[in-house]
Amino acid sequence: MARIQTVFKNFLNNFLDPSGKDLLSLPEKIKKDLSISLAEDEEIVISMKTDRAIYRAGLSKDSNSFYKSFAILTTKRLILAKDSTSLKIFREFQLNQVNSLLYEEIAGKPTIHLDNVNSKYVLSMPPGSFDEAKKFFDLLNTALEPEKSGKNFCSKCGNKIQSNSVYCSNCGTKI
Ligand SMILES: [Zn+2]
Repeated sequence: MARIQTVFKNFLNNFLDPSGKDLLSLPEKIKKDLSISLAEDEEIVISMKTDRAIYRAGLSKDSNSFYKSFAILTTKRLILAKDSTSLKIFREFQLNQVNSLLYEEIAGKPTIHLDNVNSKYVLSMPPGSFDEAKKFFDLLNTALEPEKSGKNFCSKCGNKIQSNSVYCSNCGTKI
């Protein structure tokens, strides 16, 4: 039975990712390099290979795209790293900088939107990788919980809401 499950899992992984690699596994070398840079009370929670990660600074219309990079969630940070034989960080930020978090599906691609005080990130996951992306999103959402306590996030658009607000300042939904 276990073997059948393994075969089925491999089949699914191959189906989801033509390269045949598990989207949620981080290459050993990257993991090893990263473990050295972790703070004492910091751990890797989950990682996922993205199709495309987009970073936009502040009000700038220019954006940077990182293709096939890894999104790595630790207990403190979100890191975008190059798919490489060693750890090469494109971008990273502390989880306590996150203002809003949203999950949606765009043209068959699970997509995660993260807004910070002065930047925006869009993580476009590989087509069809709904199970993996949902798992990644759920853990990201959970990792943000300590940051969220004391703040409220709009249930419709994910915008951060001041504790005394009645309506969301972004989309107008009643809290
Ligand atoms: Zn809203």
